[in-house]
This record gives sequence, C-alpha cells and structure tokens, in this order.
Amino acid sequence: MTKTPTTLEEPAEPRPIASPLTRLGEARWILITVFCAAMVAVAFYGVPFSAVLVMMAVLGVVTGLVPRRASSRRVKLNAQREIRRMWPGTGMKLTVDALPTPCIVADGRGITRYVNKQAHATYEGVKPGDPLSFSLRAPSLLEAFDRVCTTGEAERINWIEKVPTETWYEAHIAPIYMPGSAGQDRGPGLPDFILVVIQDQTENRRLERMRTDFVANASHELRTPLASLTGFIETLQGPARNDPEAQDRFLAIMLDQAGRMRRLIDDILSLSRIELKAHVRPAGLVDLSEIIRHTADAMSPVAADLGVEIRVEIQNVPVRIKGDRDELIQVTENLIENALKYGHQGKFVDIGLSEPSGDPEERAWQLSVRDYGEGIPPEHLPRLTERFYRVDVESSRAMKGTGLGLAIVKHILTRHRGRLEVESEPGKGATFKVTLPAIENAAGIPDQTSV
Ligand code: ADP
Repeated sequence: MTKTPTTLEEPAEPRPIASPLTRLGEARWILITVFCAAMVAVAFYGVPFSAVLVMMAVLGVVTGLVPRRASSRRVKLNAQREIRRMWPGTGMKLTVDALPTPCIVADGRGITRYVNKQAHATYEGVKPGDPLSFSLRAPSLLEAFDRVCTTGEAERINWIEKVPTETWYEAHIAPIYMPGSAGQDRGPGLPDFILVVIQDQTENRRLERMRTDFVANASHELRTPLASLTGFIETLQGPARNDPEAQDRFLAIMLDQAGRMRRLIDDILSLSRIELKAHVRPAGLVDLSEIIRHTADAMSPVAADLGVEIRVEIQNVPVRIKGDRDELIQVTENLIENALKYGHQGKFVDIGLSEPSGDPEERAWQLSVRDYGEGIPPEHLPRLTERFYRVDVESSRAMKGTGLGLAIVKHILTRHRGRLEVESEPGKGATFKVTLPAIENAAGIPDQTSV
C-alpha cells in the first residue's frame, strides 16, 4: 500500500503570518485617504498638524500589528466548503472523461459524485448522488474503498467476477485532498474525495494463461520424443548392442522421433516469428491466384502418395492483394496439407477463390479448401485454431502433425486483416474458408491487374 495523495491544484501552503510592513502595504490606500482628509481638516478647520501626525502614527501601529479579522478566515472556510460541495469541477470531469477506463469520483461518505463515460457504459446503474455500493457490488472493492476513506492511503486491488462470464478486474483507489482543506471536516489526513479507476484485466490474464499453457504444452510435446530417443539410445548401448536387426529397427524409429522434434521446433519458431510482427500489416503486393496454384502444384506429390486429386477451380487471372508471399504460401500449404492428411478418404480436394462482394470497405477475396473426408464434429470447431489443439491426437501424430498448423494460419491471417472460418458436417468433409481484404482501384472495382 502506498500513500499517494491526489490533488487537482497545487496544494495551498498554510498562509504565512503577514509582517507589519505587509499589512501596512495592504492598507495603504485607506491610510492615504485618511491622511488626505486629515490635511483638509488642518487647512480649513484649524486642526493642529501634530494631532494629525499622532493619529496617523496610532493608525499605522494598529494596522501593522493587529492580525486579520477572524471573520475573513470564516469566509474562506465557507468558500472551501462550497467548492467541496460543488466538486468535482469541470477540469476534473473533462480529465476523468478522457481516461480510457471506467472512473468514478466519490466523496468520503461513499456517495458517487461523478462518473465518466466509460463507467456509465460498463456499470449502467451508477449515478451521481447514489451510494457507490448501489452499483458496485464487489465486496473486496467496497472494503478497499472504506479502508482508503479511513486511512487516506491509496490501494490497488484485484477481484474476479464469475457471472455472466469469468472476468478479472483491477481497481486503483486513490484519495484526493482539496487544496488546503485536508481533514478539516473529517479529522486529520482524511481524504475529501476518492477516485476509483477500474480496469478489465480479462484479456491480459487470458494472454498470460495462454503463454504459460503454451510453454507447458510445448515442453510436454518435446519431452515425449526426447524420452523415446533416450530410451532407444540406452537400449542400443545395452541389450541391443550386438543385435543388428534390432538396431536397424530402433534407428528408424529414432529418426522418426527426431523428425517430430524438428517439426515441432520449426512450428514453434514460425509461430513466434509471426507473433513478433503481428501488429505490422504487410505492405507488399502479391498475386493470390499464383500463390494458390504454386502451392497446389507443390503439394501434388503428397496428394498422389495419398491417392487424392487436387482440383483447383480458379480463373487464370492475377488477383492482387496486400500480403506477404511466404506467409500466404504457408496458409494455403497448411490448409491443403490438412485436407490431404485428414480427408484423403474423400479422394478429392477442391480449391476455389470467390470474387469480393458486399460493402466496399469490407470487400474481400474468399479462398476455400474443401475435402470430402470424415469431417470435424461441431464441438471441436471453435477450438481448432488453439495451439496444440487436435481432434484426435493419435491420428495427428500419425500424420506428422504438431497441432500448431491452424494456430499459425490464424496468426498470419490476423496480420493480413483476414479471417478463417470452418464448416464441417461429420462424414461429409470439411471446408476451410480464408477471407482476405481486396484492394480497390479508383473505380472501386476489386483489382485483378497483374502484379
Ligand atoms: P496438426 O498439425 O495436428 O494437423 P492443425 O492445427 O493443422 O494441427 O490442425 C488441428 C486439428 O484440426 C488436427 O489435428 C485435426 O484433428 C483437425 N483438422 C484440421 N484440418 C482438418 C480437416 N481438413 N479435416 C478433419 N480434421 C481436420
């Protein structure tokens, strides 16, 4: 807990006791006026000049030595009380409104005094004039608020709300001291107002959890082939030392396991490379139609091995989009490879590219990769792009899968401002649809000129 008093203006210094000279300076116009009147009395009514001098001297001493009247302090105190009643002022309201997170200003009694736009949008019921506890019900938040009211020390707290969905919140509760008035109404050092700033931390927590899950999953995936390699090495050094037949068999398995480790490391590195530049949209121009044709050709030997025919139903016209050629090849390669691996029973893989339609701002090309295999049960569809998520781990491993292919696809598409949709009916195959934004020429027609 840290004590960070918040004041809007420079806190007013306790007013220094004025020197006699200062007081004389402040009262100079009154003294000059009295002196002039006395001189008129000397000139016209015969008042002796010495009497004027004595009177001015007495007046000077009284003005210089007598402190300011108590009533002026009372007036100042009343003014401060009035400011506190009216507070927060326009400046504070504009500042709090400019903050991107929900902020609430309450007074020391827990009455809401101001609510910024974000807080209005998030907590509909919160209204100035109502007790804070009417709208903010989290017990830990209200307890922390009470503590800040009584101790005057800022606090940062976290809590989870389970309903309607699990949401993590963080709140910073800071005391505000009005200039020169701290504690005058409610005891020494106690805040006049409290600023409550609430932040939704769900996204950050989710990313944090994803990162730790990823490290755990990656090490688990690597540990399995590593354990198998270690086991075979020990066998080759021991019982199989003089058995050439077993040695050949074990070395083949070891090569397979080493290949699995290499694929995993390649995919992990690929994913982290894409993540590094996730926020930079590719600026280069590429021909999507050429990329699809090139990848389909490159995959044809794999298709032939599995007895599948790849049918590319795309017009032979260049399709110019903004993108990174290598990454888009990786997307098409992963999708075609999956269609071949998991849908080879269907014998055909169809690749199509449909022209952009709809809103000019949202016009996009749609690439579809369709297979006629066993398809994917609906409960798995929302999770397919999660790292290491596989419908059937064994069949994925048998097909040299790592469980990272679709996660890589999703990350590349996010960087390209694209989308991935999956449609599947068990027993009838699956269709993976990739949407990529079209670039428009001056006439607003999707560009099909050559790159
Ligand atoms: P993997 O390396 O295991 O292929 P992916 O991320 O590419 O990992 O795919 C995740 C899972 O999605 C696969 O393990 C598989 O179960 C399922 N899958 C992907 N494409 C298809 C498809 N065309 N047909 C059926 N299942 C698929």
